Amino acid sequence: MSPERAVALRAEVDLSAIRHNVRQLAGRGEIMGVVKADGYGHGAVPVSRVLIEEGVGWLAVATVPEAAELREAGVQTRILVLAAPLPDYLPAYEALGLDAVVSSVEVADAVIGRAPFVPVHVKVDTGMHRLGVPPEEAAGTVRRLTEAGVEVVAVWTHLATADADDPGFALEQVRRFDGVLRDLGADAPPLVHVANGPAHVRLPPLTSRPALVRLGGVLYGLDSDRAMTPDTVDLRPAMRLVSRVVHLQTVPPGESVSYGRTWTAERPTVIATLAVGYADGIPRALSNRGAVGIRGARYPIVGRVCMDMTMVSLGDPDGAGREVRRGDESVLFGRGGPSAEQTAAAAGTIPYELTTGLTRRVPRIVSDG
Ligand SMILES: *Cc1c(COP(=O)(O)O)cnc(C)c1O
Repeated sequence: MSPERAVALRAEVDLSAIRHNVRQLAGRGEIMGVVKADGYGHGAVPVSRVLIEEGVGWLAVATVPEAAELREAGVQTRILVLAAPLPDYLPAYEALGLDAVVSSVEVADAVIGRAPFVPVHVKVDTGMHRLGVPPEEAAGTVRRLTEAGVEVVAVWTHLATADADDPGFALEQVRRFDGVLRDLGADAPPLVHVANGPAHVRLPPLTSRPALVRLGGVLYGLDSDRAMTPDTVDLRPAMRLVSRVVHLQTVPPGESVSYGRTWTAERPTVIATLAVGYADGIPRALSNRGAVGIRGARYPIVGRVCMDMTMVSLGDPDGAGREVRRGDESVLFGRGGPSAEQTAAAAGTIPYELTTGLTRRVPRIVSDG
């Protein structure tokens, strides 16, 4: 076995689940596959290849280096860099042939100074207040860019509450965005994009214009618990995080486990030590809260999650946990264990943070069906 494989932890990525999800999500708006943060931790290059094979014609990343990685891997698809471009980044957009976001009037001025620049997507700040041109300045900005010879491909916006129970503010954002389209009239660019994954699966169509839908988490099946996804869309999780039991012991009553002695055995208890810790990207907040799957059963995490190891209680030495052996697989999330949504909830976070948080130490084992 190669040294890289002699590690008792792996993230299994099933590309066929992503294929399945794309097919479920296609049909309303043209998909822009969001593969930022290394494809939400699943591997941006293999994920992008699958998306392209499935007919996805647009990709989005967060940063120029993320786009460069895709170009170096031979990906020729249109790529939108979602970040606000800083002035010194502009040559890289041209060198790599990327689509840029015009995130402010100031960025528009910088782009006009380089015209003809790469194609741009003018972002309108309809209420997220993260990036974008104010709605009242958006139409004028689009016209100035076009007159300067810059190709404006799209106007777009981002919703703050597409995943919330009450879509009220999302619909208010859409109204503000429609106001910009009215201001533009016949000067509107060919495309718009508004919906992210949650909006795509939950809200009614947000625009009657030719639209891209910027889909991220749903492509990876991150909402398989259907907290937001309606029954008509069947999502499959594409990742499992699997560790292995590296040590077993029975601790007597009154003995504690891990740093800080935050868990104490009340009766003789079998403790399994797993080769996964917060340096791999699992939240330390899972201490005394999360659970893992071993041989089809669930066992609670006891004591503090350490940098490289985590302990779980297998319960009574005569109970079902006695079947567990050193070397057994233990599933932190995915098939055979809790879902990513359940593990994230136990840690007080969202599944996106779990999969994007996995570190370089976790080998990604990619398969395709
Ligand atoms: C990350 C991101 C998306 C994708 O969001 P999901 O919730 O993962 O579908 C869409 N648009 C923008 C601007 C983003 O930053």
